[in-house]
Amino acid sequence: MNQFLSRRTFILIPSMSILQFIFKPMRVLASSLSPNENWNLSKQEWKNKLSPESYYILREEGTERAFSSPLNNEKRKGVFHCAGCDLPLFLSETKYDSGTGWPSFWESIQSSIDTKVDFKLIVPRTEYHCSRCGGHQGHVFNDGPQPTGKRYCNNGLALRFVPQ
Ligand SMILES: [Zn+2]
Repeated sequence: MNQFLSRRTFILIPSMSILQFIFKPMRVLASSLSPNENWNLSKQEWKNKLSPESYYILREEGTERAFSSPLNNEKRKGVFHCAGCDLPLFLSETKYDSGTGWPSFWESIQSSIDTKVDFKLIVPRTEYHCSRCGGHQGHVFNDGPQPTGKRYCNNGLALRFVPQ
């Protein structure tokens, strides 16, 4: 009997930590899309405000075609704002050419984005979105340059560039 119990415990502990891993991101996901009540617009309100292409990216977590955004080659000094609510998200000083065909940054402006884990490609990826309107921006990976080692892979259609 004792032997049976200890075997059960041995099996239960690892499976509980797997369950925690699965359910934790789902909790984050459920609460991440209404961060600021002033920007809690209805689907129709967002459709009126955005182009169909930007709506697809920002509100439906779409992804634009690689190398399709003019912002991929944007090299001027300035600030990249959220195309949904105009919150400044990235500085041109943190932009770099990742070769992926999407505007890439190694750091975001502090407190401007929130993250969640998504499973759209089965393998977990860290999705990030504007912390004010919840608009989807892109995914962040750990293969970026120093000093952060991060690669914020952003849809150009989700950004508005303001040159300085
Ligand atoms: Zn926003």
